Amino acid sequence: MMRFLSTRGQTQPLRFSEAVATGLAPDGGLYLPETLPDLSGELNRFEGLGYADLCFEFLRIFATDIEPGTLRAIVQKSYTKFSHPEIAPLKQLAPNLHVLELFHGPTLAFKDFALQLLGNLYEHQCAVRHESINVLGATSGDTGAAAIHGLLGKPGTAIFILYPNGRVSPLQERQMACTGASNVFALAVDGTFDDAQSALKEIFGDQRFRTGHRLSAVNSINLARVLAQCVYYLHAWLKLPAGDRGNVEFVVPTGNFGNVLAGWLLQQMGVPIRGFKVATNQNDILYRLFTTGEYRLGDVHPSLAPSMDIQVASNFERFLYFSLGRDATRLREVMQTFKTTGVYRFENFDRGTFSASRCTDAEIPGIIARVHRDYGYVADPHTACAFKEHNPDRVSIVLSTASPAKFPETIRKAIKVEPTHPTLEALKSVPIVKHELPATPAAIRAFIDAHAV
Ligand SMILES: *Cc1c(COP(=O)(O)O)cnc(C)c1O
Repeated sequence: MMRFLSTRGQTQPLRFSEAVATGLAPDGGLYLPETLPDLSGELNRFEGLGYADLCFEFLRIFATDIEPGTLRAIVQKSYTKFSHPEIAPLKQLAPNLHVLELFHGPTLAFKDFALQLLGNLYEHQCAVRHESINVLGATSGDTGAAAIHGLLGKPGTAIFILYPNGRVSPLQERQMACTGASNVFALAVDGTFDDAQSALKEIFGDQRFRTGHRLSAVNSINLARVLAQCVYYLHAWLKLPAGDRGNVEFVVPTGNFGNVLAGWLLQQMGVPIRGFKVATNQNDILYRLFTTGEYRLGDVHPSLAPSMDIQVASNFERFLYFSLGRDATRLREVMQTFKTTGVYRFENFDRGTFSASRCTDAEIPGIIARVHRDYGYVADPHTACAFKEHNPDRVSIVLSTASPAKFPETIRKAIKVEPTHPTLEALKSVPIVKHELPATPAAIRAFIDAHAV
């Protein structure tokens, strides 16, 4: 039986389903497997498996409290809404350069890999426990849409997503507000993303309300999200010629450190990967950390790659836990210092196999134009950050996290062509159903009271 512990070391070990249902650990930490499995002897067994089969074989190592037949069905269902037969196709752009396309899911961004699965895990849990669940989140973009599409139409669930009215892109709003599903509530609040976020925090702080409605949060730290993301690294690694595998560096556009952490965990499980490059936009807390050893809070500057506009990289705590030798007491000290002072300076910071790059808004359109000219490939603004520099002597896989069609203005400015996608075109003729609310906890609570399942 695989068990999961909090990085902060002050909670009971949980089983997979419990850790997934809990999300953030009660001590404020993030769940990790008690011991990482060693996959080095199993890699042969994974050879040639299709995406969903590989995902099942990988997840069953962790989800030991779900009956294998049930788990297989949950996993298989999670990848049926992807429009590409390979789910995560690996495309070669140049002799040592590949791009791993992670945007063929229903909302055209990589978050679908985890949130389709999470939606099905929630549905399974509702059925097993004979309980309903109400999922609540605030979004400035991709996460809300992916969470909605993970749960839409699922019996026993309702999802409420808050976003700042008039401040998300029109396409993103349509992805949330044009689903036609009766269990989906797109709440356009009058205020900024931070207003929505702070209202949400207060609502989650209200224990009675929270347990009364069986509220669950959508956020990037859920254990199931990280594990689901390990699979596309493994799938891509298995597609490389054997001679290239040990030499590969994954280049990952990241904000919260969620995406790249999954690849790193796989490496820690014995999959020989040379390293990872963390590609940030101008919100560069991770770039500064990996180049200077100092983790320092900055202001958020809205960018052309908005899904990486973060202040704190919440999943970084999982890497930190390992780099501090799994010493939860030390980890609590570091997190406490960072919380009170906004900075932590590591003595002899061991960056392991990580390197980092940073890309400003001024650079993004030029990179999109160069990648288009050199390889005939259209990269979205997030993916463009990962193309900033490429060492042709090294085998690189760039993770492409969103379809360029989600960001038509930036692409048009860069290459004079506006990309389209049939999924997004179809949304343009569907009526928007959104609920406009003041950004106050009272108004949001009243709405949930009236519509929760
Ligand atoms: C969320 C998102 C990212 C950043 O993912 P992390 O979990 O922060 O690493 C990058 N690109 C796109 C398109 C996203 O939606």
